[in-house]
Amino acid sequence: MAADIIDGKAFAATMREKVADHVSRLKADHGITPGLAVVLVGEDPASQVYVRNKRKQTVECGMQSFEHRLSPETPEADLLALVKRLNADPAVHGILVQLPLPPHMNADAVINAIDPAKDVDGFHISNVGLLGTGQKSMVPCTPLGCLMMLRDRLGSLSGLDAVVIGRSNIVGKPMAQLLLGESCTVTIAHSRTRDLAEVVRRADIVVAAVGRPRMVPGSWIKPGATVIDVGINRIAVPETGKTRLVGDVDFDSCAQVAGAITPVPGGVGPMTIACLLANTVTACCRANGLPEPDGLIV
Ligand code: NAD
Repeated sequence: MAADIIDGKAFAATMREKVADHVSRLKADHGITPGLAVVLVGEDPASQVYVRNKRKQTVECGMQSFEHRLSPETPEADLLALVKRLNADPAVHGILVQLPLPPHMNADAVINAIDPAKDVDGFHISNVGLLGTGQKSMVPCTPLGCLMMLRDRLGSLSGLDAVVIGRSNIVGKPMAQLLLGESCTVTIAHSRTRDLAEVVRRADIVVAAVGRPRMVPGSWIKPGATVIDVGINRIAVPETGKTRLVGDVDFDSCAQVAGAITPVPGGVGPMTIACLLANTVTACCRANGLPEPDGLIV
């Protein structure tokens, strides 16, 4: 194997220590405890796991966790009323509504009902606009985690060719904005892209956020490129009768060619939650007119 493995799990653990440190200082110096409210509607099994992990890590960092579980039949008006209450609650500094929402709900309307200052997912239209125009915003957690790993690995990203595969609002588009902000030459590839292999072969940085198991083979990767695998796909393992998680990248073949690569699990996933915690501390500091935490997001 040629590539270095980018250890997102270790990176995220270090970040959580810094978050915990900031939280204890906020408590000791200002009597403030950052609070994160997570709203889960329905019983999607993957969402339940994510919400459980978020709660656990929020509490471990010394923050307050407010969890709201609503039945899948909850009327949208009830969810909007809950969001309004959380917006007004001074103990809540961050609000996260776990996606996907049930089909009868308008996710855009719900996300845009969140106070942008508490929108720690960075999905509110105001934060999207601020990010797109290079202004201070709440940055979506998954792309932020990817960017931190890229900076850590590569230092300056200026002038590098970056290809983001996937154009979703929560990963692909904000990832492309962040890379543009770092002065990369950015290509966004998607399901209608012609000759994806050729597009990816030009890239110094590849970020795969598609949701298709192992769709990027090593033969697409430019030698020495840095590969960030956002995909989380559960596949069956016939030999054991069990399942396992794989990314959007074929790890074994890509690791032969890439300079560095994130594993799945243990790459982007842990960084996403660590960035959520960091965003909550940032939101708390901004809400209280305190300086933003130094050295948390690097
Ligand atoms: P999405 O379904 O909203 O978007 C997928 C994108 O992939 C679309 O823009 C589509 O155009 C593109 N696409 C589909 N087929 C393609 C193809 N054949 N070639 C090129 N592009 C294609 O998904 P999403 O929410 O952006 O998530 C993507 C993946 O990342 C999923 O596996 C998801 O589970 C994972 N994810 C992981 C984290 C994390 O913390 N690690 C966070 C969010 C999402």
